[in-house]
Amino acid sequence: MNQMTIAEVLNAPAAPAGKTTVGGWVRTVRLSKGGFAFIAINDGSSFDNLQIVAKAELPNYSSELARLTAGCSILAEGSIVESPGSGQRFEMQAEEIRILGWADPAGYPIQPKHHTYEFLRTQAHLRARTNTFGAVARVRNAMSLAIHGFFQSRGFLYVHTPIITASDCEGAGQMFRVTTLPVGGGALPAEEDFFGRPTFLTVSGQMEAETYACGLGKVYTFGPTFRAENSNTARHLAEFWMVEPEMAFCDLAGDADLAEAFVKHIFSAVLTGCPRDMAFFDERVEKGVVATLEHIVASPFERITYTQAVEILEKSGQKFDYPVSWGSDLQSEHERYLTEKHIGRPVIVTDYPRQIKAFYMRLNDDAKTVAAMDVLVPRIGEIIGGSQREERLDVLTARMAEGGLKPESYWWYADLRRYGTVPHAGFGLGLERTIQFATGMANIRDVIPYPRTPRSAEF
Ligand code: ATP
Ligand code: MN
Repeated sequence: MNQMTIAEVLNAPAAPAGKTTVGGWVRTVRLSKGGFAFIAINDGSSFDNLQIVAKAELPNYSSELARLTAGCSILAEGSIVESPGSGQRFEMQAEEIRILGWADPAGYPIQPKHHTYEFLRTQAHLRARTNTFGAVARVRNAMSLAIHGFFQSRGFLYVHTPIITASDCEGAGQMFRVTTLPVGGGALPAEEDFFGRPTFLTVSGQMEAETYACGLGKVYTFGPTFRAENSNTARHLAEFWMVEPEMAFCDLAGDADLAEAFVKHIFSAVLTGCPRDMAFFDERVEKGVVATLEHIVASPFERITYTQAVEILEKSGQKFDYPVSWGSDLQSEHERYLTEKHIGRPVIVTDYPRQIKAFYMRLNDDAKTVAAMDVLVPRIGEIIGGSQREERLDVLTARMAEGGLKPESYWWYADLRRYGTVPHAGFGLGLERTIQFATGMANIRDVIPYPRTPRSAEF
């Protein structure tokens, strides 16, 4: 028995010889008057279905095959032949079809018709069987591989930073508490808790990654992060995946160069690795998304400072919900104006005012701005946030005090500056926002298998 996936069959240079077995879930069934059943199955390996042609002479034709409906699982054996009319190169002439699992059409929610994304979120355990969610999963997979490939080929070490943490990466977001203390049983002190101190789910692996970069040179993390921010937007999740490279002996310019090369590498890998899925997104989800990615891969990112960005926004004559003024953070509408309308491609904004950025970002010589950078892309806004880190102990300590932070809790972080300090820099890329951008999917809840958002954690 030669068992193959549908991708293996459809991409084979020539029809495989002999008998082949393929398993899959039924998408559609068409019974022809001539005594055939055309059964389209999909197994997730490919966007395209495999057409199984079943003759009426098969022993279970009328008892089973003629009763197949969407969602049933089957194992089909037969010969692969060139397909005269299914739109695919190959189809299967079945010699035996075993039904592995029936799917009662009265109950099966994924009927072959249009479903809204909202509805499919309520069926998240079955939505992987749809065209869109299969394509998203394959793009997400290709992107993850490309992320590792990019860093591995450049000598970065993959490090695993903790998910449970006692440090808060300077309020990068509201944190989820991790505790074994009884719920609702009165306020027991944190000393009684599992770790003997308050602990949380990490909002970023950055500080731990810095410690490894200041010993191993170039490292990256790639894992889940958690933010309990109550923002019900199409770009925020409470649990999302972040990629965080960190480089010793590197300044902000080197950091921005890495970010640009990284984004281009990811998009080009998705274009070459998932052409069929990308063609689907281009046709059905976001017209022009393929051309947009190709354009991004081929053209240099613009670089402007925050101060220039504010000038552009002030002169734009555009009406914004939030006013623009030097010293306040750029809102998503401002970011989108810059990248979509003003520049028309990705832009890296650098050197933000010190008071709106974290204490660990390196203070510039003007003493007003820090060596921070955000990478902004059309439609999404920020997909990367990064900075050169403050490597001078005295400045770092002063910045902590300014922010009302207790230096004692950051003693190990300060040690990096106390012993053999070096300039270093890094950034964080949000995986889901990057998938959103690459696929054109409008809502971040639809690019992760099981989205975690306020009031929603069903599966
Ligand atoms: P934003 O201002 O857009 O909420 P941020 O400035 O809080 O983001 P960073 O702390 O810089 O984000 O995190 C780095 C990257 O992680 C962001 O550029 C973004 O791509 C991603 N990211 C941040 N918060 C979320 C979230 N809640 N859901 C999904 N991705 C996120
Ligand atoms: Mn940011």
